[in-house]
Amino acid sequence: MVVLVINCGSSSVKFALFSGDRTAARGMVERIGSHDASGHLDLPGSSRIALPVPSGADHASALGSVLAALRAHPDLASLEITAIGHRVVHGGDRFSSPTLITPQVLAEIRDLAPLAPSHALANATGIDAATRVFPGVPQVAVFDTAFHQSIPPEVYHYALPPEFHREHRVRRYGFHGTSHAWVAARAVETLGLPEDKHRLLTAHLGNGCSATAILDGKSVDTTMGLTPLEGLVMGTRSGNVDPNLHSYLHRRTGMSLDEITDLLNHRSGLTGVAGVNDMRHLAELHAQGDPTACLAIDLFTFRLARELCGLCAALGGRPDAIVFTGGIGENSPLIRAETIARLSVLSTTLDPVLNAVHGRDSRGRISPEITTPVVLVIPTNEELAIATETRRLTTVP
Ligand code: AMP
Repeated sequence: MVVLVINCGSSSVKFALFSGDRTAARGMVERIGSHDASGHLDLPGSSRIALPVPSGADHASALGSVLAALRAHPDLASLEITAIGHRVVHGGDRFSSPTLITPQVLAEIRDLAPLAPSHALANATGIDAATRVFPGVPQVAVFDTAFHQSIPPEVYHYALPPEFHREHRVRRYGFHGTSHAWVAARAVETLGLPEDKHRLLTAHLGNGCSATAILDGKSVDTTMGLTPLEGLVMGTRSGNVDPNLHSYLHRRTGMSLDEITDLLNHRSGLTGVAGVNDMRHLAELHAQGDPTACLAIDLFTFRLARELCGLCAALGGRPDAIVFTGGIGENSPLIRAETIARLSVLSTTLDPVLNAVHGRDSRGRISPEITTPVVLVIPTNEELAIATETRRLTTVP
């Protein structure tokens, strides 16, 4: 079965083509809608191929260019796309699992747009475009929020009067669910834990960062909330701040609501503290003793350790394992070591040699053999997770 996975943003489309579990191709189209729209296609072991994208291309025309390139390539031409999986950022409290897309489902995704305006509308546009370019091919929506629909009321409510939840859907939703679920399932396999009896903490640390408590296969708490701004320090996002910060800054500086929202989402986090987003660069500056880089890394790892300890309340005990994933989680021995060093309350330790090589020779394990919680590095693969779910929903048993 051949599945095309689409992740549609407001001006970009990322895609990956899977034949079974094998990645046959991946690529993206950028700057959709502008005169310099461009794209590329990567095949395993081959050099990058430029995609001819018409100037001013919309999403449908960009997907048309992708399809034409896939059909024209000698290694891919025989792969008939049998299903399409879409990454959809917000499923609100309506969608708690991947869902076959119908006109009704698409209307509901649009209806949820106020919760994530730019993302949700881009996701809906991508579904519309794919319907035109791939008529008759079944499509599945895989929601970033769905895995967290199992979190209990005392975890998902904010302490606000109930009408804000009832009328405006104000509650905690959580994000990165596909990634947390994927790495948790790999951890359970790797450690041979019972599928219905385990306690895990997963830390997805990329440009966006979140951590999740997983009890017996279900998310029971996560650090992101109504929006992906809540929780951990991230590349450009502040994570938790005092909720009065908006009004304080507005009164003090005259900044507008939109300007403060932009500050917290795009000019804060690692970028705000140290002026650098890329963790590789920050780690180099940290090694040279640069004070702002050291502060950024201390803030990042302290907040992460604090949230991981807090998530144990939802687990009801110490975790069997702590899993690191995402661009930073998979690649930064420094961040893993500094975080685990702050978690002595959980009796966690690392093996520095295993940590330095990301657990590559020890099935992801970076803690000493006999200690618990076991600390693991597990690469996430959100596209393969989406392809797997798409296949499951579109395969007739
Ligand atoms: P993601 O959003 O999962 O693609 O992750 C992006 C983040 O991963 C960026 O902050 C990168 O700096 C970070 N990253 C990627 N490679 C490395 C590496 N080798 N060491 C440290 N951080 C890395």
